[in-house]
Amino acid sequence: MSDRYDLVVIGAGPGGYVAAIRAAQLGMKVACVEKRPTLGGTCLNVGCIPSKALLDSSELYELATHRFSKHGITADGVGLDLGAMMGRKDQVVKELTQGVGGLFRKNKIEPVYGAGKVAGPNSVQVTLNDGGERTLETNAILLATGSEPIELPFLKFDGKTIVGSTEALAFEQVPEHLVVVGGGYIGLELGSVWKRLGAKVTVIEFLPRIVPIVDHELGNQLYKILQKQGLEFQLETKVTGAEVKDGKATLSAETKDGKTLTFDCDKVLVSVGRRGYLDGLGLEAVGVEHDPKAGKVTIDAHFRTNVPSIYALGDIVSGPMLAHKAEEEGVAFAELLAGKPGHVNYETIPSVIYTWPEIASVGLTEEQLKEQGVDYRVGKAPFVANGRAKAMDEKDGIVKVLADAKTDRVLGVHIIGPRASDMIAEAVAVMEFAGSAEDIARICHGHPTLSETLKEAALAVDKRTINC
Ligand code: FAD
Repeated sequence: MSDRYDLVVIGAGPGGYVAAIRAAQLGMKVACVEKRPTLGGTCLNVGCIPSKALLDSSELYELATHRFSKHGITADGVGLDLGAMMGRKDQVVKELTQGVGGLFRKNKIEPVYGAGKVAGPNSVQVTLNDGGERTLETNAILLATGSEPIELPFLKFDGKTIVGSTEALAFEQVPEHLVVVGGGYIGLELGSVWKRLGAKVTVIEFLPRIVPIVDHELGNQLYKILQKQGLEFQLETKVTGAEVKDGKATLSAETKDGKTLTFDCDKVLVSVGRRGYLDGLGLEAVGVEHDPKAGKVTIDAHFRTNVPSIYALGDIVSGPMLAHKAEEEGVAFAELLAGKPGHVNYETIPSVIYTWPEIASVGLTEEQLKEQGVDYRVGKAPFVANGRAKAMDEKDGIVKVLADAKTDRVLGVHIIGPRASDMIAEAVAVMEFAGSAEDIARICHGHPTLSETLKEAALAVDKRTINC
């Protein structure tokens, strides 16, 4: 069977499905090829959504077991039903992935379930999940095949004891001792989940700091707070191998000064980063320029590869591997394809770490400003001085605003604190409009709200805080 489309998208993650919807809205006939049985990609199936569902559930458990009493609530005999917690997470995933199916129907996008391969500049061959093959002829092909966890050669995934994030989202029991290899956001989020549910958690990080790309002052605060919560850290330590026997692992590692360490544990989560997934796409045969080792396709500012009808975006191109970055690219790509002025402002893409407290950032860090020799002013305000944070008993953290010393334009905002993920949107909006610290300082913020801490930090840039 052969069909002709304006656009065939390979991959139904946030990059691919959003591009498909926007292209359909602009009048194109679109098919979206997906090898999973459900739509939504890594993000909805095994990434952002299930991890946040477990973070929210485990946070409630933590509150009930450790912090309710401070609020005068007695909750004796609070128990954990891990099966039910996992069931709720699976239900959230199911509803959202089915929701994408609904959006496809609404926008008349044809989902094609199977593994897609570029058969030519205008042709995608699909090995259908239900058996058989199908060829889709198209004016344009969008590659949006996402990413997979990086495997260490001396620590191969076995799916049970040595695992990646997907398995760590679905352990059947709370591990006694979970060792997380890698102190990035995925390891810290999943480490927090299992710590709250009762596991001993040790994070081994090769570098001298966790979350190294985060503004160092906030990264240092997060490190101390997570230690207070009971997570253990082994920094400047290189994992060298593991022996697995009867469902237990003995992990060996070497410190910076050459000391050998061993860790006995029942689960090892390897979260040392992700690599773009280009397997079986047939890029060599069609001559699409890419770096197979890094899993990255080379594109120009309009998402075009070197083959005129083939485009790429999301985790398989440069930039932060984040769902909202992929979504923005999806919209911009479709608009450009339709001859409209699509654009992504990569300077205002926020990033969030959903530990508790959360870290949310946009723009440049203090380290980057120093490196670039920018003359800047800094304003900081702590949550301990915020009425709402006190009422919530959430006093850890600060907001830090970095502004150009001459123009006062906001160059970066970094928040560690409660609901930082929601608060960062205001800073993103201000930066999108090239606003100044004074703009934030003069905006009326509701009282009492956590966002007043952002206002105070903006006031602090000009050394005129009111409440701290
Ligand atoms: P993906 O979402 O990976 O989708 C690609 C799709 O393509 C997949 O469904 C795959 O099955 C399909 N595919 C691949 N090859 C083929 C083929 N040949 N034929 C057919 N289909 C194919 N990001 C955030 O912004 N916020 C978060 O909180 C966050 N949390 C995360 C937590 C975890 C545990 C993980 C693993 C990731 C998280 N991410 C988060 C990252 C986010 O999931 C990715 O950046 C995002 O999903 C990338 O979108 P994408 O469209 O490029 O690819």
